[in-house]
Amino acid sequence: MFRAAVTRRLQQSALLLRFQSTLVIAEHANDTLAPITLNTITAAKRLGGEVSCLIAGTKCDKVAQDLCKVAGVAKVLVAEHDAYKGLLPEELTPLILATQKQFNYTHICAGASAFGKNLLPRVAAKLDVAPISDIIAVKSPDTFVRTIYAGNALCTVKCDEKVKVFSVRGTSFEAAATSGGSAGSEKASPPAPVGISEWLDQKLTKSDRPELTGAKVVVSGGRGLKSGENFKLLYDLADQLHAAVGASRAAVDAGFVPNDMQVGQTGKIVAPELYIAVGISGAIQHLAGMKDSKTIVAINKDPEAPIFQVADYGIVADLFKVVPEMTELLKKK
Ligand code: FAD
Repeated sequence: MFRAAVTRRLQQSALLLRFQSTLVIAEHANDTLAPITLNTITAAKRLGGEVSCLIAGTKCDKVAQDLCKVAGVAKVLVAEHDAYKGLLPEELTPLILATQKQFNYTHICAGASAFGKNLLPRVAAKLDVAPISDIIAVKSPDTFVRTIYAGNALCTVKCDEKVKVFSVRGTSFEAAATSGGSAGSEKASPPAPVGISEWLDQKLTKSDRPELTGAKVVVSGGRGLKSGENFKLLYDLADQLHAAVGASRAAVDAGFVPNDMQVGQTGKIVAPELYIAVGISGAIQHLAGMKDSKTIVAINKDPEAPIFQVADYGIVADLFKVVPEMTELLKKK
């Protein structure tokens, strides 16, 4: 009798998994896929059901072809229209709702980047469900894990909504393989443009350095740098290490660097192979954005600075002496 009950329970869960279907909203720049989409696909695969991706844009053939090859993606839906320029939530939301109406997904998700954070609350509101932001693990199709208190506590969330809408922390899921898949692509039918907002232009910071959230090495500076000009020390070091440059909120608030460089609870979440924190005290809100880095090096003149509690290597020294020395040594290599 016990065996029969267990078999029945297993059959029920297998049936439940078969009925899961997830829509991943792809973040892209027409010809390149944002890496966080691959992490989001991995999270979607953990739910157990079929994974489809929706690409909205103007000329997204290349991204559609790339997505079809991603392992574990069953279907790629492509919606092309001038209204999707700039991926505005006002225009993407009706498209997602129409796609949802057609295919009845149990889950809708995107990366927890500015794109996903901008879009998903609107989608969830229109579906009249509560969204879950920034998940770091999937326990079952209706149970997710996220962090609270600046990353210092884990919170398991059970979601009973008819459609589960959630954003995915990229650094918590490995990227799905970009080969091995053979998804079919089909055209989605875009609803009429809403026309309440229009994408005009974007001015992107041009940099030869890698993008902060995807970089293998990150050098970050804090209030200890004392000025924006002094960040040159970090740029020189970063160039030797092919690193991205980040900053603490204090450095951003003081106007040393722009806010797209901020790492932390209210900035970007990074988990590089190597994180070098320079003149950063190590407040919990900063740690929330970088403590999953594989190796952490801290340079701080205060031996009591909390950053040393999470650092694998600590240098108690004046950054204005140590950083140029490091750069010179790397140049000689
Ligand atoms: P400080 O705490 O002032 O530290 C500067 C450090 O530099 C000190 O440890 C000092 O010893 C060292 N130093 C000074 N001179 C030198 C020198 N010559 N050589 C070596 N070391 C030197 N912070 C973030 O970073 N990211 C966030 O996303 C974020 N979000 C927040 C959200 C909320 C709701 C709140 C309340 C706060 C948030 N903060 C965030 C702010 C956070 O609490 C800290 O105030 C901030 O991280 C401090 O930045 P800091 O380490 O650069 O500055």
